[in-house]
Amino acid sequence: MKKVVIIGGGIAGLSAGIFARINGFESIILEKNHNLGGECTGWNRQGYHIDGCIHWLVGTKEGTPIHDLWTTVGALDGVEIFHPESFLAFEHEGDTVHFYHDLNRLKSSWLELSPQDEEAVNNFCQAICQLQSFEVPVAKPMDLMSLVEKFKLMMAMKDAGMIMQKYGKISLTEYAKTFKHPALRETLASFLPEGYSASSVFFALAAFTKGQASIPYGGSKALAMRMEERYLALGGTIETRCEAVELVIDRNKVRRVTCSNGKTFGADYFIAACDAHMFYERLLKGKYPDSAFEKRFNNPKDYPLASEIRVALGYAGTVGDLPRTFRFPVAGFKIHQKPISHLTMTHYQHEPAFAPDGHTLITCSINQFHSDYEAWHALAKDSRAYRREKARIGEEVLGAIETRFPRMGGKLKVIDVTTPKTYERYCNAYRGAFMPFLPTVRGKMMDHSGRIKGLDNILLSGQWLQPPGGLPVALITGKDTIMRFCKKEKKQFIKC
Ligand SMILES: Cc1cc2nc3c(=O)[nH]c(=O)nc-3n(C[C@H](O)[C@H](O)[C@H](O)COP(=O)(O)OP(=O)(O)OC[C@H]3O[C@@H](n4cnc5c(N)ncnc54)[C@H](O)[C@@H]3O)c2cc1C
Repeated sequence: MKKVVIIGGGIAGLSAGIFARINGFESIILEKNHNLGGECTGWNRQGYHIDGCIHWLVGTKEGTPIHDLWTTVGALDGVEIFHPESFLAFEHEGDTVHFYHDLNRLKSSWLELSPQDEEAVNNFCQAICQLQSFEVPVAKPMDLMSLVEKFKLMMAMKDAGMIMQKYGKISLTEYAKTFKHPALRETLASFLPEGYSASSVFFALAAFTKGQASIPYGGSKALAMRMEERYLALGGTIETRCEAVELVIDRNKVRRVTCSNGKTFGADYFIAACDAHMFYERLLKGKYPDSAFEKRFNNPKDYPLASEIRVALGYAGTVGDLPRTFRFPVAGFKIHQKPISHLTMTHYQHEPAFAPDGHTLITCSINQFHSDYEAWHALAKDSRAYRREKARIGEEVLGAIETRFPRMGGKLKVIDVTTPKTYERYCNAYRGAFMPFLPTVRGKMMDHSGRIKGLDNILLSGQWLQPPGGLPVALITGKDTIMRFCKKEKKQFIKC
């Protein structure tokens, strides 16, 4: 039996491991942390369970190919799905804009708010509606497709192609100007950071409004643990606290991987299901550069990477009918000298087990980009100053929520604050990024096969290979990697 060593036990590594076992490879996952799941995780603090990942999971609609794939790996098998009433509610100068799950309701609420925007609202909803037919292609990666299969895929992607053509090169900020009402303008303009393509908003809302991007009950860590169980049940093995630090390479092949605990592992095939930058720079020591990645890593303006500060708060109460994710303006709050104009808070009322009885977990995410990361990186050199700044941010967020919701006054406490440095330390995530390069108007979309020029038996897998990254890309690329090894072995790929 041929053996595969998988470096990294995130969703891509688990997916690769499960498909390796289904396809008759011996498989071992090497994971630097004690737990598997990578960025798809959660942790306990002061009686609360802080969900560290899933705001929305593409693949929650039964009967779709991506849902079937999640089911095969054990992630969604029999799991109940929570469909929030809205994706986001955005408050601006006394008005609230809701991104409702029900597209008709979204449309009528926007028209009620701004009858003069009828044409723009109709166009917006029509584009979302048109994209609802789009299904994430999961069957095969492009490099393994025949010409006929490629043609069929292009036909199936027709609607997506039309939306990309129309909105792919317009920034969201520009697109927002097609609306007259200030709240609608501001909502759309700040949906994603400056420079990001308007197309992203349509893909996100098309998936959400058709029930394809909701939230599995139990949260992120539970999802990863179900995949781990499936992998172990299939006979896969795992080494935790086992960080790969060196690859032994000989004649175009990786022969062994050496780990921080002194153990070494040999195999026929290797999968780097870990951070791409760490892989190219630390494990391959910069000796196998890849121009597609280099171009992007060296141009943060056109290929920005997002990370975040996440403040978790315990609330001694229930939040009632407050939208699950609520964005509201704040004043006088700065981080690294930059004013923060809005806060996005999410509550977990649908998960009573995430908080003590009668209490609710609330998280608040603040996006961080290039210069923010630099500031955190410098600050983290002084651990006391770093901790002080985290505590200050936690208290500022708490104060801002109390100001907006006076009824919460005295009932909130900060239970945890993570920064880009947290994700870097925990997952080796480059600059703390939680997603790969998002589509901007100037950047080109990445579509990478994971092959390393000059190396025969190792492939990169995971969120970095395709936009927009996230859990579905980790899942799909993990499977695709095993499909490529099956082809090399001249074996028919078995999908479940
Ligand atoms: C705060 C946050 C919110 C998010 N929200 C969503 C969401 O709502 N929806 C969504 O789809 N996606 C979301 N994501 C993104 C999603 O979590 C990631 O895209 C996905 O988990 C990436 O999976 P991966 O396996 O490719 O990489 P990772 O999760 O980074 O897994 C890589 C694994 O490799 C391990 N590793 C790294 N280096 C080594 C080494 N040298 N040796 C051994 N092990 C190593 C790491 O510890 C990690 O376990 C979010 C991410 C974050 C951080």
